[in-house]
This record gives sequence, C-alpha cells and structure tokens, in this order.
Amino acid sequence: MSKVWVLGAGQLGAMMRHAAMPLNVEVVPVDFNQSQSVELAEDDVVTAEIELWPETKATTVLSSHPHFINREVFPRLADRFTQKQLLDELAIATAPWQLVDATTQAPELYQSLGDTVLLKRRTGGYDGRGQYWLKQSEGTAVPEGWHQEAIAEQKIPFDEEVSLVGARDKAGNLYFYPLALNLHVNGILMASIAPLQRLAGVQSEAEEMLGKLLTSLEYVGVMAMECFRVGDHLMVNELAPRVHNSGHWTQSGSSISQFESHIRAVAGLPMSKAVIKGQSVMINLIGVERNNNWLAVDGAELYWYGKEVRVGRKVGHINLTSTEPTQLNSSLTKLATDFPEPYPQVFDWVAENLR
Ligand code: ATP
Ligand code: MG
Ligand code: MG
Repeated sequence: MSKVWVLGAGQLGAMMRHAAMPLNVEVVPVDFNQSQSVELAEDDVVTAEIELWPETKATTVLSSHPHFINREVFPRLADRFTQKQLLDELAIATAPWQLVDATTQAPELYQSLGDTVLLKRRTGGYDGRGQYWLKQSEGTAVPEGWHQEAIAEQKIPFDEEVSLVGARDKAGNLYFYPLALNLHVNGILMASIAPLQRLAGVQSEAEEMLGKLLTSLEYVGVMAMECFRVGDHLMVNELAPRVHNSGHWTQSGSSISQFESHIRAVAGLPMSKAVIKGQSVMINLIGVERNNNWLAVDGAELYWYGKEVRVGRKVGHINLTSTEPTQLNSSLTKLATDFPEPYPQVFDWVAENLR
C-alpha cells in the first residue's frame, strides 16, 4: 500500500501516524531539515501538518510530488491577506479588515475599522505571536517593519470562541465534528469542550461556512475553522488547512479521530460519519513539566509530545471523555490539583462551561 508522507515532524504528524496504525497505513513525517534523502513512490501521497515551510531539500522533494494533496490551498491560506480575500469572495462572515500596505497609517485604520485595531502579520503567526494592538486613545502607530507584512482587523467583541473541524473526501462528500468551545489565554489555546448542547444552534451555520470553503477549494482532508460567536451568529477568525489543536478531543471523544479522518481522506479510503462518545474535555499542556500523577486520574488520556519544556510551548495534552457528567467533573477536580498557574482559571472555565 502507498505511504502517506507528512511535511513536518511535529506532534500533529506523529498523531497522524499513530491514528493510521490500526489501518496499517504507513505515515512518514519528515523533518524540514532532514538530511537523508526522501524517496517517494509514484502512488504515495503527501500531506502537511503546517501551512508554511522553509524551502529545503526535503520540502522541495515532498512539495513537488504529483500527489501532494491540496498543493494550491496552502499558500492561499498561509497568507492572511489571501485568506481574508477568499472569505470575502465566498461571502463568509469574518472580522472587517484591511491590508496594511506600504503607506498605511494608523489614523486611516481607526477611521475604517474603529478605535481599537488588531494588526496580524500576514504569515507565520501562531499562538497569538505576530499580533499588535493599535489603540487610538494611546496614539499607537503602525510599528516599523509591519508595512506590507500585515493585515488590520476590527476588534470583535465576541461572546466566546468556537471551532469547527470538517473533512472532505475525494468524491466531495463532507463530514463535520460538533463545534468545540475553546478557551485561549494570552493567544494560546488552553482547553476545548465538545460537544456542547448550547452550541447546537450555530452548528449548521458553521457547517455551511466550512462546507462552502471545502467545496470551493476542492479540498481533500481535514480543515479547521476558528470562529467567534457573536450572539446567534458566527464570524470566521481564521482557517487552518490541517488537523488542529481544537480537534484533539476527537481522539477520545469520537469513533474516528480528526487524524484518522485526515488520513482516510488523503489516502482515498472510505469515510463515514464519526459517532460521538459522550462529552469531551481537552486540556492543553503549555510549558508545564510532565507529571505522572495525571495518569492516575480516571479517564485521563495523556499525549506527551516528548519536546523540551519551554514557557508558552505546547508540550502535550490530556483528553477526557465521558457520558457521565459527574465522572467528568470528579476527574477534572482531581486533575486540577496537579497544575500550576494559570491552570486554576482554566479548570474553573471548564467547570463553568460543561453542560
Ligand atoms: P493560532 O495559534 O490559533 O493559529 P494565531 O496566532 O494565528 O493563533 P488568531 O487565531 O488570529 O492568531 O488570534 C489569536 C487570538 O486573538 C484569537 O483566538 C482571539 O482570542 C484573539 N483575536 C484574534 N482576532 C481578533 C479580533 N479581530 N478581535 C478580537 N480578538 C481577536
Ligand atoms: Mg493561526
Ligand atoms: Mg487562531
């Protein structure tokens, strides 16, 4: 059977490999700087765990393979300018925005977008890095080096942040997971809850938005759509043409994880509607040392990425799934005792939002 090669050798590629094992599909994550040559067969397929990569010997070989799935989509979504243009073209609600060109100054941004404006670097930003708030009251100016490198967005006074993970197969069929409710602290995803009964009302709007995108791009595989919920409606914040952190809960909470969905789609295997098991909580492990006490908590499923622990770095996550709210709550209470700042507020948020 053909192999699935992955551009990038981080945790997402590793979890694709893990998910593909029971199917005996070989997934081979490739480090950008891998020195030994990669030798692809004609019928192998290539996917990516990231939307932008440096040009190296390894990435050149992988990205020029005829079966590099979604080849045209990556550059289009990796640049926030062309990503926002696509959303506008498809008339999908998103935060009003403007390109920061060579001469754009703050006053014109305040005039068109309001008195608080968020600059986002066009490429390379993640976990809230590559963002800069402009405030009219403080007379903030567009910083040096951001001209032609950023877009400006209106500040959205959202109620909460949700995300939808969906997949499209080669025949064009669409599959969606239930929306996840996400908590970000300082721009980093800390926890997700899915499904949530109170989000059922915006599920179909979300599916329509992502479905339109997947179909118009003739996309194959998993894509994630981060949204702001504002009242009864959604606005797209950003898109990720890959498996996504806010979909990690599907590893324990769904009959088919997002990783397996992605592999099935790109490998051309049959897809089916995932069956959701109870309710799930995903706690991201950000800059914390591994603690094996987590393993003693009933229902806790640890994914430890084996990376060096650094402040603000994603080093693992824990999934919990249950059909019993009391069981989920008692496990979370037990888990919470072993976490440093700012986790107490994360566990409080989870407890407040469950059910
Ligand atoms: P990720 O790690 O998800 O890729 P990122 O660095 O690409 O993050 P965004 O998702 O665009 O950045 O923004 C990070 C967070 O900043 C959002 O989750 C949200 O909390 C906040 N944010 C982004 N855009 C806006 C906006 N227009 N108005 C208000 N808050 C915003
Ligand atoms: Mg992003
Ligand atoms: Mg984001």
